[in-house]
Amino acid sequence: MGGADKGETTVVDRTEVVIVGSGFGALAVAKKLGKAGTPFVLISETTEHLFQPLLYQVATGVISPGEIAPSVRAILAKYPNADVRLGRVVDVNPDDNTVVYEAAGKRHTLGYEHLVAATGARQAYFGRDEFADLTFASRPWTTRSACVARSSAASRKRTSPPTPNCVRTCSASLS
Ligand SMILES: Cc1cc2nc3c(=O)[nH]c(=O)nc-3n(C[C@H](O)[C@H](O)[C@H](O)COP(=O)(O)OP(=O)(O)OC[C@H]3O[C@@H](n4cnc5c(N)ncnc54)[C@H](O)[C@@H]3O)c2cc1C
Repeated sequence: MGGADKGETTVVDRTEVVIVGSGFGALAVAKKLGKAGTPFVLISETTEHLFQPLLYQVATGVISPGEIAPSVRAILAKYPNADVRLGRVVDVNPDDNTVVYEAAGKRHTLGYEHLVAATGARQAYFGRDEFADLTFASRPWTTRSACVARSSAASRKRTSPPTPNCVRTCSASLS
C-alpha cells in the first residue's frame, strides 16, 4: 500500500461498520456504536462536524467558523473502537461489501459488514439549476461558504461589526 501509485486501488482492510459522512446522522450512529464497543470506520471528506443550523451566525459575523465546526476525531477520541479517516467516498460495491474512497490523491478499498451512508442532501432548484450560481444556498454548505456570504454582504453594507475572532478566522478561511 505504501508504494501505491496515484489512483491505484488497494484493498486496505475490513471492518464491522463503515459510516460515510460526519454530519448529524453520521455522528449519531458513531456515538451509539462507540458506546456499544462495535468497531467502525468513519470516512468523511471534511475533518470537522459542521453544525449547519448556526452557519447563518457565521455568515452574519456573530460567531467564528471554529465555534460550529469541532473536529470529528476529537469528538470520537474517547472511543477506542472508532477509526476516523479523511477521504471522499467515490464508489460503493454492494456485491462484495466494499467502499472505495480517495485520500491524498490515492484510492483505498475498505470492506464492511454494514454500511451507513449519511452524506446529507443536495439543494433542489426545481428545474432551474442556473440559480445555483446566483445564490448562496448551493450545497455543500461549509464555513467557507458562510464566510463568502458574510464578505459579500459586508462589501455591500455593513450592518453590524463582526467580532475580531470572526474576522481573523474568516480571513484565514478565504485566503
Ligand atoms: C443554513 C442551514 C440551517 C439549518 N437549520 C436547521 C434547523 O434550525 N433545524 C434543523 O432541524 N435543521 C436545520 N438544518 C438542516 C440540518 O442541518 C440538516 O438536516 C442536517 O445537517 C443533515 O444532517 P446529515 O447528517 O444528513 O447531513 P450533513 O450534515 O449534510 O452531513 C453530510 C456529511 O457527509 C459528508 N460527505 C458527503 N459526501 C461525501 C462523500 N462522497 N465522501 C465522504 N463524505 C461525504 C460531508 O462532508 C458531511 O460531513 C439547516 C441546514 C442549513 C444548511
